[in-house]
Amino acid sequence: MNTEELIRLDREHVWHPYTSTVCPLPVYPVKQAEGAVITLCDGTRLIDGMSSWWAAVHGYNHPVLNAAAERQLAKMSHVMFGGLTHEPAVELAGKLLKILPPSMQKIFYCDSGSVSVEVALKMAIQYWQSAGIAGKYKFATIRSGYHGDTWHAMSVCDPVTGMHGLFGSSLPVQYFVPAPTVTYQEEWDERDILPMQAVLEKHARELAAVIVEPVVQGAGGMRFYSSSYLVRLRELCLHYGVLLIFDEIATGFGRTGRLFACEHAGVEPDIMCIGKALTGGYMTMAATIATTEVATRICSGEPGVFMHGPTFMGNPLACAVASASVSLLLESNWQERVRHIEEQLRRELSPAAASDKVREVRVLGAIGVIEMKEPVNMAVMQEAFVKEGIWVRPFGRLVYLMPPFIITPEQLKILTGGVVKIVTG
Ligand SMILES: *Cc1c(COP(=O)(O)O)cnc(C)c1O
Repeated sequence: MNTEELIRLDREHVWHPYTSTVCPLPVYPVKQAEGAVITLCDGTRLIDGMSSWWAAVHGYNHPVLNAAAERQLAKMSHVMFGGLTHEPAVELAGKLLKILPPSMQKIFYCDSGSVSVEVALKMAIQYWQSAGIAGKYKFATIRSGYHGDTWHAMSVCDPVTGMHGLFGSSLPVQYFVPAPTVTYQEEWDERDILPMQAVLEKHARELAAVIVEPVVQGAGGMRFYSSSYLVRLRELCLHYGVLLIFDEIATGFGRTGRLFACEHAGVEPDIMCIGKALTGGYMTMAATIATTEVATRICSGEPGVFMHGPTFMGNPLACAVASASVSLLLESNWQERVRHIEEQLRRELSPAAASDKVREVRVLGAIGVIEMKEPVNMAVMQEAFVKEGIWVRPFGRLVYLMPPFIITPEQLKILTGGVVKIVTG
């Protein structure tokens, strides 16, 4: 298919994320991608600043991940997980158990991050049902969060930047607490947890769980908050008898400088969601993991099982690639790489803070954020970035970088240089 035909068909018939079919924003056709470089059909080479939304931590077209997929493909790409099991799923579980917080013991594979959030919320509801404690059907969360686009996941996203206005009363009503204000670097101030404490105190009888993204709030605002918040939140949830869910879909697998962001706080949740970088960005797969206590309680009441089971649960191809990706990460010097990326992002993005268009520059791990004073024109800025030879997709007031860990200092310099030039220009 020639490129014009491809773009025409795409514009007429293919929906893209959060876009109009009437007046779609331009899309750039990709021919291939390798390492940290995305090559467009016209030959333009773009240095990737997005890791395909947090996922492609090892870069694209990685020989080790390709080989894992091909090996598994020759055996079977899928079999149902009801009544059957297989080595890729079990081997991956073994690898995850070695790196997850120790209390995370029971692994539920699912299709995508949003589904893993739905599964976590369902687990929390079934937990209280099985415990014979009635009336705990609601969730509390902090503002500026993002947990996915499916129904209940949407209901715990930030009510302003999320889709609450649009879907109105069709969404379940949840409790929202102001987002933490003490930043990752700042000294802890006990006043920051008081709104959460107040909601827990008042509504614990209705609350099944609190769900948060630990330390880094991703798509809801790219904010980095104090790990002490999580320490206090853990204590409060225990005190008030409310489960704690950590959504590590964006933060997991080293992005923040720790394998999982909850390690910054040294606390463990009752239920945890992982996804995105789980397969190194190769295919869609996520998991919801529970403590033994949570799983045992769920399975002790009626109906004695957890009520969820996706068709493609535990997909062997995805599990095989995920397994290879986890090993690749652990064998790489990812800590050092992330630390170098962090230092370079800090050094090279901070000059942007001097611009009167820029509100703040912040960096944590392999995440660099330039928060603008005004929302950016995505289509215009995107085109300018492509002209600079970089792939960066801003949203709202946020221009941010989360490059693959394998990016070289030279490539990263082009990325930061292009971003600073365009946002301050
Ligand atoms: C991306 C994301 C999700 C949703 O994952 P999908 O795979 O897009 O459904 C949920 N929570 C967080 C924190 C995310 O970053």
